[in-house]
Amino acid sequence: MAVQDEPRFRELAAAFVEECRRRGVRLDQAAAEGVLTSQLSLYSSRAHVSEVEVLARYFDDGWPRRFAALFVRCDGGSGRRTVEPDRAFGLDNACSLLTALALAVELAVASGGHADRDECDLAIASAAVCVAEFGVAVRSRCSPDVVLPGAAVRFAREVLDVAAERAAAGTWQRCWCSEPLHEHDDLRAVVEQLQVDLLLLH
Ligand SMILES: [Zn+2]
Repeated sequence: MAVQDEPRFRELAAAFVEECRRRGVRLDQAAAEGVLTSQLSLYSSRAHVSEVEVLARYFDDGWPRRFAALFVRCDGGSGRRTVEPDRAFGLDNACSLLTALALAVELAVASGGHADRDECDLAIASAAVCVAEFGVAVRSRCSPDVVLPGAAVRFAREVLDVAAERAAAGTWQRCWCSEPLHEHDDLRAVVEQLQVDLLLLH
């Protein structure tokens, strides 16, 4: 039985349509099912389990909300996704991006307790995917450059964009506490570095 025939598959896709609608993006059921299918196949190939199992184990009721938050942000509310071309980076720039992604993870992990939890979790998950893609790209390169798949470029840009914005606003910090009176490190230098690294992705 194909995963698309599971009642749960259709429920999640419908909930995703609804979450996108709440965010001002119109998406039809077929497009939502396409998005869900590509996510399931991605997880399935990474986790080496069937898509049906991935659906049952990893796609809970929070998925439509979490993924809509990412989806709507990354397509600028147009409801249409553009295909991002693969990009070649020098090894030094690839290392800078890896470092920036690690920094974003550090901020998101420390901030999960006091900032928007879904956003932090999503940033961590997306950054992890990017880091893995970078690793594969470095290992399998057949030229001095590191060629990164377009989807990973897009994910990296989203993660670093959110991290720079949240760190600049002070909602993401390196400290785990939620003490309103604790004086936190000035993250200005961190934000500037993230913004410089982001330029590599534009
Ligand atoms: Zn603190």
